[in-house]
Amino acid sequence: MQLCGDEYSLKKIIHIDMDAFYASVEQREKPDLIGRPVIVAWPSKRSVVCAASYEARSFGIRSAMPASRAKKLCPEGIFVPPQFHLYRQISNEVKLVYRRYTDLIEPLSLDEAYLDVTKNKLEIPSATEIAQRIKTEIKQITDLNASAGVGPNKFIAKIASDWNKPNGICVVKPKDVLRFISPLPVRKIPGIGPATEASLKTRHIHIVSELACISEAQLVSWYGKFGKRLFNLARGIDLSPVNINRVRKSLSCETTFEQDKTLAQIESEVLPLTEKIWNQLSSKNLEANTFHLKLKTHDFRNTTRSKTSPKPVRSLEELKVLVQHLLYKSRLPKNLRYRLVGIGASNFIQPSIGGDQPRLL
Ligand SMILES: [Mg+2]
Repeated sequence: MQLCGDEYSLKKIIHIDMDAFYASVEQREKPDLIGRPVIVAWPSKRSVVCAASYEARSFGIRSAMPASRAKKLCPEGIFVPPQFHLYRQISNEVKLVYRRYTDLIEPLSLDEAYLDVTKNKLEIPSATEIAQRIKTEIKQITDLNASAGVGPNKFIAKIASDWNKPNGICVVKPKDVLRFISPLPVRKIPGIGPATEASLKTRHIHIVSELACISEAQLVSWYGKFGKRLFNLARGIDLSPVNINRVRKSLSCETTFEQDKTLAQIESEVLPLTEKIWNQLSSKNLEANTFHLKLKTHDFRNTTRSKTSPKPVRSLEELKVLVQHLLYKSRLPKNLRYRLVGIGASNFIQPSIGGDQPRLL
């Protein structure tokens, strides 16, 4: 049983992920939407999809896709604007369910969290039973479904919660970890994005068991510090604790153009990015005071402009104005062509704390 050391086999971690959260909330609020393709998106021309119901997903609609594309894929789709205050309220109700079992909770967003139930308040020895109970209580209180993954660490629990979605539960016992992860595509490993996936592919590494054949020294020489983590993850080892004080310092998103663009042409690209960053902030229950506009010129020089507002930005409209200001009032060279635009946020506070909010940073 002691597959990978004590710490590895002694933890009991649950990852809970609400199913199609925003879209399911909308269906709960308006029962005539149940069973129909619901697409949550801001009502603007260049909007991006915040969330899609399972019915909408069957048309190929995914989060972060342009709403115009979603409309083409599913003309009968029902578009509704997000109601983050409501999602936040329900997220808090769900958190109270977790708290009956443990205070070791690491929220990842409004609809996802890690729970360490190794020692739990009700002294229930089975993490599977706790996960089942949590799912049932969430359903009773919110009328929404959640999926749960149970494993000996965060990495395994997170992959497991996705396994039997929606309304599923998947338990990976320590002795089954290697069998569970070996056939998975490397892309399932958190931190492996399209670029690392492509780079591994050129080295003929497609699945986790192939990654596990590479030495630590080799992986470090390819990917630096991340290589060391990859070496561990490929063996199902993740010693990162459930971090109740995880504080994000910044968030960002960016777009690289197929063809370089002038400043005037960039405006249409900036709007969906502004929404994306706003949705990310909302989903992580954060408000930000500082926003950054990043541009990369055609010859790969980076230019950044930042603006800090005295109060945190409280609406998407306010943020759009701020970003327009960054784009037009910060003396960016108009005659250049750019290959990339990005928007970042930092200087966060957490709005749910209420009243006079303490600064996290
Ligand atoms: Mg979810």
